[in-house]
Amino acid sequence: MSIDTGSIDVGSIDTGKWEIVVGLEVHAELATRTKLFCSAVNAFGGEPNTNIDALTLGLPGSMPVLNEHAVELAIRVGLALGCTVSPSTFARKNYFYPDLPKDYQISQYDRPINVDGSLELPSGKVIGIERAHLEEDTGKSTHVGGGGRIHDAGHSIIDYNRAGVPLLEIVGRPDIRTPEEAKSYVSELRAILVAVGASDGRMEEGSLRVDCNVSVRLRGSTELGTRCEIKNVNSLRSLGRAIEYEAARQIDLIESGEPVQQQTRHWNEDDGRTHKLRSKEEADDYRYFPEPDLVDLDPGEEWIERVRAELPMLPAQRRHRLAEAAGAELTQTTLVVERGLDDLCLAAIEAGADPSRTLTHAVQNLADERAADLDPSALAELVKMETGGALTATQAKTVLAEMVASGADPASIAAAHGFEAMDDSELEGMVDGLIEANPEEWRRFCEGDTKIAGFFVGQVMKATRGQADGKAVTALLNSRKG
Ligand code: MN
Repeated sequence: MSIDTGSIDVGSIDTGKWEIVVGLEVHAELATRTKLFCSAVNAFGGEPNTNIDALTLGLPGSMPVLNEHAVELAIRVGLALGCTVSPSTFARKNYFYPDLPKDYQISQYDRPINVDGSLELPSGKVIGIERAHLEEDTGKSTHVGGGGRIHDAGHSIIDYNRAGVPLLEIVGRPDIRTPEEAKSYVSELRAILVAVGASDGRMEEGSLRVDCNVSVRLRGSTELGTRCEIKNVNSLRSLGRAIEYEAARQIDLIESGEPVQQQTRHWNEDDGRTHKLRSKEEADDYRYFPEPDLVDLDPGEEWIERVRAELPMLPAQRRHRLAEAAGAELTQTTLVVERGLDDLCLAAIEAGADPSRTLTHAVQNLADERAADLDPSALAELVKMETGGALTATQAKTVLAEMVASGADPASIAAAHGFEAMDDSELEGMVDGLIEANPEEWRRFCEGDTKIAGFFVGQVMKATRGQADGKAVTALLNSRKG
């Protein structure tokens, strides 16, 4: 099905002329047991309006009490992103919407808990992080009838289970230049959040929600163009499509002499377009002021340093560590770390396995989830059998698949398959026999027809049912040529 995008020609952006500038704001639900300011349960998928209490509903007299675990998780993420953790203040962000029972959201404004960090993409590019602040989530409204939006709905229903769930809003700098980089950023951020135990990272359940600021400018320009913020992007695929559509729309406007207007827009997955929601609010519209019911939050050096000391190894560190140990390019380690196979590969390399073969197997032949349970010394043994010539690459792949499935050792699997090393003299005898039996082919080979080598290799493979090493056959042919 092709999607009608009107006059906007998505996919044909002249990237030599135009540059796309993207900054992402990611809201991550923190994996606490209870909500940010009360003891109502923080859980996804419950019966509507069951995980609520007086504070969730904004009833008079209810007072917020800060959740210590949420603060700890916020500090973990901040430190993992290289931020400075600072004393911070909660503020009221005032706006009226039915999913916000108090008519204000408790957030952080001019004094956020985490400032000035960065995130390294698997490509090695570094994206700046402006801030990562704590705030509470809103309830979830469903507009019934009409197009699923409030203005044409017959009625709306509200579930307050999500209201007050702790969020960390991670605001990235506008350092992203392509839809692919945007997707890579979100997937890396998700990996970090999961690694430090701050979030389950489930985009499909709304644990991770992305707002996307897009502008365009002529390549070479250093000024930022007018941006639009796209809401409701809930998958990596949508993120890439939304950026591409929105950039093409803005270029179209500029090229026809119309200004881009600062707007909040909504991504519609079904028609593949962004639609205007409202003209963009400025901070003034929210009438921020310090939350009078909460004192300033100063975690103190001791707490921050304890959290820092307890941080696990992060994906970027894992990629660098593996690249260094294997003498590989950073990008060759991305998938290995994503699959959680870097410890296995490092141990196998440590045990004497060829680093390059080890990484190749991890990327090409170890997609199976059980691969992480492989015994590193068995993997090392397999790689050694292969590099030592006892197994061909194809045989090694077969053996490896069985090692993952059964946990058996490579030598016995190879023996069971009859994958035994071909004796050198056996191979020599076979090649000599073929030369004698095929004088015409041999003459052409000697005259420099290199393609005919494939004939001899093929014959040997047929006779050995694929067990011979093709390279060894070619070497023998060349040695016989004299
Ligand atoms: Mn927010």
